[in-house]
Amino acid sequence: MFLLEQNEKNHDTAEKKYNIDYENYPLRIIILGPQGSGKGTQAELIKEHYTLLHIDMGSELRKIENQNNELAKKIKEIIDKGDLVPDEITLKIFEKKLQELKSSEKKYKGFISDGFPRNEKQLNLLNKTLGDIFNIALYIKISDEEAIKRISKRRICYCNDKEIILSIDDVEKIKDCEKNNCKIIHREDDKEEAIKHRLELYHKETELLLRDFYDKNILIEINGEQPIEKVFEEIREKIKEKLEAKRNE
Ligand code: AMP
Repeated sequence: MFLLEQNEKNHDTAEKKYNIDYENYPLRIIILGPQGSGKGTQAELIKEHYTLLHIDMGSELRKIENQNNELAKKIKEIIDKGDLVPDEITLKIFEKKLQELKSSEKKYKGFISDGFPRNEKQLNLLNKTLGDIFNIALYIKISDEEAIKRISKRRICYCNDKEIILSIDDVEKIKDCEKNNCKIIHREDDKEEAIKHRLELYHKETELLLRDFYDKNILIEINGEQPIEKVFEEIREKIKEKLEAKRNE
């Protein structure tokens, strides 16, 4: 039964609203960590390994940003400065993605949310609208120095509406991306001023969520300053331990 019982009372809202039976979705993960901690990379590995729906708020917003309308313009302005997009927009995107759990042909075992909720206000809003839906909170920990070092080297390769995260050191991958006629960009909000502002917002707002998830006994801390495969290994081990501990409670 995993962590189901603990949150059962609060599930009513999301389960009723979308007719989603959480018993069929035993992994409902939120992944947290500062910009550059490797959340996106790990979320991709996790979603494949456990067959999860990946809800990547930043990427969903950038899809809207690339459209040619007033909303796109408004979102682009906010994102380029490193500020937060209004809650009603992000909540709507999250709810829409969540519906894919049932509508997709893929047999998902749950979902992993990257980038939402990002502060207490969004968490409260989510709880009020959909109930207490997460049963694992993965926190990828890295220092600010490492975050800044990584983000300043980060580039995005856009291929068929998909984002592939690269570093300027990945010379071969950059060549591949160019060969496939995909677009390589240096995100405006990955430039120095915006990074500093985003990290500030992270420490001021997102980090507060760690306490909530710790109190619910769903927090798992991961050392993000290791090679990608090692981080992923630690994640798999700790998820297994957490689920076993909960089952034996
Ligand atoms: P990310 O790709 O997660 O770094 O997100 C890029 C940008 O998208 C952020 O700096 C925000 O401007 C916006 N964004 C992503 N998630 C949220 C959220 N939950 N609430 C508000 N804005 C968000």
